[in-house]
Amino acid sequence: MAEGQSNISDFFKTMKVRFEKCLEPTLSCAEGAISAHSVQNATSLGIITDDNHVYEMRMRIKNGAPQCAFEKVGRNQASTFPGFCGRHDTEIFKPIDTKPLSLEDAEQLFLIAYRSVTRELHTVMEAAMRLQMTLQRQIAAGVVPKDEPSAAMMEATAHMMKAWGVWKHRVEFYDRPLVKRRFADVGHSIFVIEGRKPVLASSSFFSVDDRPWGKRFAGVTLNVIPTSTTEAAVIVSYPKEQSGKARRYVAPIFLKSGEERLFALSHILVDRAENFFVSPTHVEGWPAEKRKLIEEAFIGTVIRGEPAKPSPDLMLF
Ligand SMILES: [Zn+2]
Repeated sequence: MAEGQSNISDFFKTMKVRFEKCLEPTLSCAEGAISAHSVQNATSLGIITDDNHVYEMRMRIKNGAPQCAFEKVGRNQASTFPGFCGRHDTEIFKPIDTKPLSLEDAEQLFLIAYRSVTRELHTVMEAAMRLQMTLQRQIAAGVVPKDEPSAAMMEATAHMMKAWGVWKHRVEFYDRPLVKRRFADVGHSIFVIEGRKPVLASSSFFSVDDRPWGKRFAGVTLNVIPTSTTEAAVIVSYPKEQSGKARRYVAPIFLKSGEERLFALSHILVDRAENFFVSPTHVEGWPAEKRKLIEEAFIGTVIRGEPAKPSPDLMLF
């Protein structure tokens, strides 16, 4: 990858060209991206589906205000994102899509994290692109001034910086190691939820420090992968050089055990993850108040940036 791509104006130019294209590590593939699963469909998502459906948290605008709610989605729509072309999706993820998961396999663990980081990159690029196009439309219509700061311009710029930051993170900590097959550059903290039916799957990525958007930041991926009818693997992955910050952030999960540990995991999922799926039987078994509390905690963190208060009511497992 050219050094010049670390410059934001170059990033923006590249992003225009890459949008809806394959995000393979060298960014040279000209193929369009297809919808592919961020959570392994056949195995892990299948374990938590009922009648081929799962619940996911959806955000919608209702009467001008954003709302979050659990919504039932078909297994084939759940967790998909157009990040790679068919050929790269197959080639890159073959080791995790064609072999059973081994928690000792450095390549598999790396690829699970790589898929989560790329899903986030696609999500933030899409948001930045959409806001940029809205801004240009408003400028063309004369609604927003071209050369003066406006709310629309600030928002578009902030999202562009965020996309740029995630982009740089992937290039530095994931694309370069992947191309060189240096899988051990990414470290993992893992535990297995045993002896209970898996009810949740997740593939997410978030920062673990408070750097302004666009700056170099420390980030982790959090994957919850049902592996059998009685077990699910919880895998937190991070660049090795950021392992101190990463482990400190997820310490509430790893220092606890039993139900306490699952509370802590639920709290981090509601607080930071945007991409998780829950078994329909499980969600439908919750009291209505509990479901509402989780939805409200979720919207608080997404919209208002308020951290969710740790509470047994937010238990997702
Ligand atoms: Zn491709």
